[in-house]
Amino acid sequence: MSWRVPLSDVRIQDSDVEAVLDCLRSGWLTMGPRTAAFEEAAAARLGVAHAVAVSSGTAALHLACIAAGLGPGDEAIVPGMTFVATAAAVRYTGAEPVLCEIRGADDMNIDPADVARRITPRTKAVLAVHFGGYPAAIPDLRALCDRHGLVLIEDCAQGIGALVDGAGHQAGVLGDLGCFSMFSKKQLCVGEGGILTTHDKDVAARAKSLRGHGLTSGTWDRHRAYSSGYDVADFGFNYRIDEPRAALAMSRLTRLDDDIAARRRLARAYRDGFRDVDGLGLVWDDEVAERSSHFAFPVLLPDRRARDGFRAFLRGRGVQTTFYPALHRFSEYRRLFPGLSLPRVEEAADRHCAIPISPHLAGADVDFVIDAVKAAVRSVEEPVEAVA
Ligand SMILES: *Cc1c(COP(=O)(O)O)cnc(C)c1O
Repeated sequence: MSWRVPLSDVRIQDSDVEAVLDCLRSGWLTMGPRTAAFEEAAAARLGVAHAVAVSSGTAALHLACIAAGLGPGDEAIVPGMTFVATAAAVRYTGAEPVLCEIRGADDMNIDPADVARRITPRTKAVLAVHFGGYPAAIPDLRALCDRHGLVLIEDCAQGIGALVDGAGHQAGVLGDLGCFSMFSKKQLCVGEGGILTTHDKDVAARAKSLRGHGLTSGTWDRHRAYSSGYDVADFGFNYRIDEPRAALAMSRLTRLDDDIAARRRLARAYRDGFRDVDGLGLVWDDEVAERSSHFAFPVLLPDRRARDGFRAFLRGRGVQTTFYPALHRFSEYRRLFPGLSLPRVEEAADRHCAIPISPHLAGADVDFVIDAVKAAVRSVEEPVEAVA
């Protein structure tokens, strides 16, 4: 199917291509100088002391869970409204994810009050997700985690560049660990890739060792003859990124701020366009929306039937949409948590629909989407139960 307006729209510029070609021509393809340069630039941009580039956002989450000391017998609290990788990363360590509530359908982020209720003597960490790019309540969670001696991991896969408070703290800064994704649909899109951030140099050093099999030196160090051999000092993985992707990431990082600004402009136009539409709800308020980095633009319909009809109508107009199911309703997680009920997560999962958002969606296409959305709302409002 070819969409008139796709959900996301990736555009690679000539400068991106040149950066990758330069790397390929250099003949050095595994982690080396471009990865190191990207890590330095990413740390500076994200406001943290250390950034470790890895093969995916999921790898960053797994390394964060290891850094948090998670293992068998431990629990980590995870919102029920997230992509499955957040919970899977906890499970890779042998620990158990404990799913918790979000604040509501119009604030689909982790609810600190519900987190507090689910803390047990086995709880070791909280994983906060910036859903759709909208900042989670990190200052509240920071205080809660400090009170209970818990590690705060921020899943920033959808939230790069989001601001978590009015003081300008970015996603990933106030948490103990930040985990970012460079998957092709994310704001900093490379295809595959991730970044782990931390303020702690020992945590960064261990993550760098773990991403490369726990070796004490990398191939680049040996190439430069800084090191002639290596020891295996830890039980590691192959979570390496490669140089062409580090080069692409570096090139795209220079445009991240402009891209987020464009996403915010589009989100403003959508909010203004939808504010007074009966039967259509906006999520979060204007103040939080300004601090979002807008990975997704969810809107709310009255119920699941209306949401599904809304999506079908937009499909007919060539407008691609999606929604995020509740994690505990997937078969794997129904098996793990039989009978678990999270009413606010379920309501949000049933009622929201994400419409296209990208830095390149502008002009007449924005009006086209706004008009199509309004028509879609009218189409699902027509009474259908009149003749029973
Ligand atoms: C995309 C995503 C991830 C996983 O990132 P990958 O780079 O695809 O491994 C984790 N958590 C959330 C919330 C995501 O959206």
